[in-house]
Amino acid sequence: MMNPPRISQIGGPTVLIEIGGLRLLTDPTFDPPGEYRLPHVVLRKVAGPALAAKQIGPIDAVLLSHDQHADNLDHSGREFLATAARVFTTRAAASRLGGHVVGLSPWEPVSVTAPDGGELEIVATPARHGPAGIEPLSGDVVGFVLTMKNDQNVRSIYITGDTVWYEGIAEVARRFDVGLVLLFAGSAQTRGPFHLTMDTNDAIEAAHAFPNATIVPVHTDSWAHLTQSAQDLTRAFEALGLAHRLNVIEPGGTWTWRFDADQASASDRSRSPVHAP
Ligand SMILES: [Zn+2]
Repeated sequence: MMNPPRISQIGGPTVLIEIGGLRLLTDPTFDPPGEYRLPHVVLRKVAGPALAAKQIGPIDAVLLSHDQHADNLDHSGREFLATAARVFTTRAAASRLGGHVVGLSPWEPVSVTAPDGGELEIVATPARHGPAGIEPLSGDVVGFVLTMKNDQNVRSIYITGDTVWYEGIAEVARRFDVGLVLLFAGSAQTRGPFHLTMDTNDAIEAAHAFPNATIVPVHTDSWAHLTQSAQDLTRAFEALGLAHRLNVIEPGGTWTWRFDADQASASDRSRSPVHAP
């Protein structure tokens, strides 16, 4: 059985995932605080990353939810893409970024071979970056589901990307046995009195849709346009008796996902013994 996956919060949407000997990075952002002029808004970054790009080490694949927003891919993040062995993102982003960047449509799978010969399946998932009809304004976004194909004891990891709760997320819940959700929250507001990433209500919908999953919020810090914090999520989950489902990792923190302890049901154990890592 492989070592338990490790999740390190770098800051904003940037998370290091170590699984099966592979090192993956979500939306790379390493710039210091500053301002970014987008066509419709000026985004203001208020805190730098917990780790600099050069401290991250070699990356087997960047999982880039979209390239068109500076809070998901900033200047240093763009430079970082060239250093990663692989980059997976939307088809639109791949055509803009070029090089070795691979575009995926929702539900399209790719696989990456781990150093130990194991196979990690990566499936792109749909995302809607705001209310119904936002797509022409927001541009395309994808999420990702990660599944180690050679280890039956591990449920999938779902990275939502920038999205609100909607039917597409419910479909991810129907198609995959997810044990860990990296939930892009923060209730971002840049275009009006509506949110573009998950708010507390959306996160609670997701917690119910993925009943076997631990919810790790990301994309809740470092930017002025984020209107809800990880603490807001904690208070909302506590109020609804769901605090045990939420796991907040502070920027700079690393958490080891002890899936063997919290996932294997009694029947799973009898069928396939779980060994300590
Ligand atoms: Zn975005």
